[in-house]
Amino acid sequence: MDAEAIKTSIEQLITNCISDYRLVQKARSVWKAPLIAYASARDPLFTKFRNVVSPSHHTPRQLLSGAETVIVYFLPFNERIVRSNAGPGPSSREWAVAYLETNTLIHAINEQLMQSLEQNGYAVTTMPATHNFDTKQLVSPWSHKHIAYAAGLGKFGLHHMLITAQGAAGRLGSLVTNAYITPSARVDKEACLYKHDGSCRACLSLCPVGALRETRFDRHACYVVCRENARRLNPEEKAEVCGKCVSVTPCALTDPVADQQKPQAPDA
Ligand code: SF4
Ligand code: SF4
Repeated sequence: MDAEAIKTSIEQLITNCISDYRLVQKARSVWKAPLIAYASARDPLFTKFRNVVSPSHHTPRQLLSGAETVIVYFLPFNERIVRSNAGPGPSSREWAVAYLETNTLIHAINEQLMQSLEQNGYAVTTMPATHNFDTKQLVSPWSHKHIAYAAGLGKFGLHHMLITAQGAAGRLGSLVTNAYITPSARVDKEACLYKHDGSCRACLSLCPVGALRETRFDRHACYVVCRENARRLNPEEKAEVCGKCVSVTPCALTDPVADQQKPQAPDA
């Protein structure tokens, strides 16, 4: 298979998997169209993540010898899920369900991609969507959002989440393969209004525990909130969620800087 054919088959498989989960398996959540991007496994940025994320952050080639490509996809929540989590108080049940269902969906997508690529003679390594982090330091050896940044899926906002063309509310999946796929272009413009022109700080004021500041992010304070929500909402399934900082912000469902820069339609 050539690189373009592999890419087409990956994108088709992800789309089919989402549709199957919605229509056949009756998932309650609804996702907008997925965003899919590719990073070169040789990208020097992966080594730099050791300084930014954690000294134990893996490079793709540590996970899979001979790796060529990191496949990353973003499954954006629809507006109904995002709006359900607006307002003060704990996370909405709908948001928690979307988190759990999306984790299941990511597992299914990764399994199917792995099967399909292996049938075509390629090797694949997958990483779980969540709970792959050090529970003391709260850092992950494979940060999906940093991987997604490397693949050009978006830029970081003041809330430390990735803002994609479909916003920041949703979940990321990624896997590593030795199949070569042309890397996607990295985004060079900011997507966060604070970083673009200082005109927004909405996410800071929405955080119930003040974990977000302009100069730092208190991940431990954030995790306390997430665990409390899990205890309250869904203790068996560990829906450790909050998401207030991405639910009612200008970047929840879209890239607000790109939106501002779109040419205005002429008045009728
Ligand atoms: S809410 Fe505003 S400041 Fe916070 S990440 Fe989004 S655009 Fe940036
Ligand atoms: S997820 Fe919740 S607790 Fe964590 S930073 Fe965002 S708003 Fe604050």
